[in-house]
Amino acid sequence: MHREGSDPENMSAEDFLCDFCHQPWSADRPFVEGHRGACICGRCLTLAFADLAIHFVSDQLREGEACTLCLEPKPDAAHWRSPAFENTIACVNCVKRAAGVLHKDEDVDWRKPDRAIDTPE
Ligand SMILES: [Zn+2]
Ligand SMILES: [Zn+2]
Repeated sequence: MHREGSDPENMSAEDFLCDFCHQPWSADRPFVEGHRGACICGRCLTLAFADLAIHFVSDQLREGEACTLCLEPKPDAAHWRSPAFENTIACVNCVKRAAGVLHKDEDVDWRKPDRAIDTPE
């Protein structure tokens, strides 16, 4: 998400906030973008990936909700709900896609949490 009141023509790093924890982008907090400026940061992604892909803990969409990152309502899919902002939720597809993007990015020091590293893509 973009910080409220930020100038879309003149965005700086601090104007990009993770939708799931509302912390700004920084060198040690890499971001992956979804649709319409929605973002998830590496720290939230670690939590989300561990829950969904390692512990198989998931949440379900509530009435009228959709994934914050792809905007698709997928009632049957596993989702990860932000512990901080409970109207913010990501589907397992987006979490895995974003984790794959960050994991492969050589400029970013982020790896999928434990065990899942051995999971074939
Ligand atoms: Zn975050
Ligand atoms: Zn999604």
